[in-house]
Amino acid sequence: MKIVALAGGVGGAKLADGLARLLPPEDLTIVVNTGDDFEHLGLIICPDLDTVCYTLAGQANPQTGWGRRDETFLALENLRHLGGPDWFTLGDRDLGTHLERTRRLKDGQPLSQVTRGFCQAWGVKPTILPMSDQPVCTIVDTVEHGELAFQEYFVRRRCEPRVRGFRFAGLEAARPAPGIQETIDKATAIVICPSNPWVSIDPILAVLQLRSPVHQSQSIIAVSPILGGRTVKGPAAKMYVEMGIPPSAIAVARHYQGLVTNFILDRLDIDLAGEIESLGMRALVTDTLMKSSPGRLRLAQDVLNLVETP
Ligand code: GDP
Repeated sequence: MKIVALAGGVGGAKLADGLARLLPPEDLTIVVNTGDDFEHLGLIICPDLDTVCYTLAGQANPQTGWGRRDETFLALENLRHLGGPDWFTLGDRDLGTHLERTRRLKDGQPLSQVTRGFCQAWGVKPTILPMSDQPVCTIVDTVEHGELAFQEYFVRRRCEPRVRGFRFAGLEAARPAPGIQETIDKATAIVICPSNPWVSIDPILAVLQLRSPVHQSQSIIAVSPILGGRTVKGPAAKMYVEMGIPPSAIAVARHYQGLVTNFILDRLDIDLAGEIESLGMRALVTDTLMKSSPGRLRLAQDVLNLVETP
């Protein structure tokens, strides 16, 4: 069974971790959003990629969902004292990742190669790939401030501005990172993790130009990041409201209509299963909240069972 998982940060990393603990490493490839990458303090920062890598390496901070566990913030304290821009929190160990990544990128290594090297050093066995080696930047169009670079919206302005659209700058020149297309062609299933559909999954789908299963026996399984009309974390539900769509598992299913063959929704939303099936996809109702390690494993097992018996 060959699985390709598409992931953003927090929600994506948790399910990817569950899958990584159930599958042989050669059977799992995780393609990660890089639309929220940005340059800060002269460093290239890849928040989703790092969240997925740190999570699979067992180094993620369980409280925040981003950054590393057992982190210190001495460099940031000093930066703040000196009057530098401190709105993006970077821990001391995490800074080492950005310093070394930036050095390798400036030396001419593509991001996919840098990521492979880091994963080897961290003992991460499944393949983790950025969606592209070329930069693609998610731009959020807001009512109050017009277009904002993603981290300006997400971190600096704490997702407060009202959104009215999204754009992915650099798409024309961006190609899927080496190996992605071949892996997708051979995949038994593609799993769209419970990540933000607008800003974590849409950029990946746009770069991959993925619109339907590539062969008849392939399933594309999406897990809803919206449970009972709300997100577990982050602005996805707020974004749906601002885009004029009531936030629900149905909204997410419609988002992926025509692409996904199977949709996993939470028990809280059991009443929506029939309407989701009427969109042309099979619905599976299960517990989708991944509070801790057993929750990740349970949901990953549900996904794999579905791959075996669609
Ligand atoms: P970000 O880039 O860090 O915002 O991360 P993602 O896009 O991967 O994840 C954000 C989404 O994950 C939010 O919409 C959350 O509702 C969803 N999410 C987080 N934890 C869980 C969980 O345990 N279960 C489900 N179903 N969704 C989750």
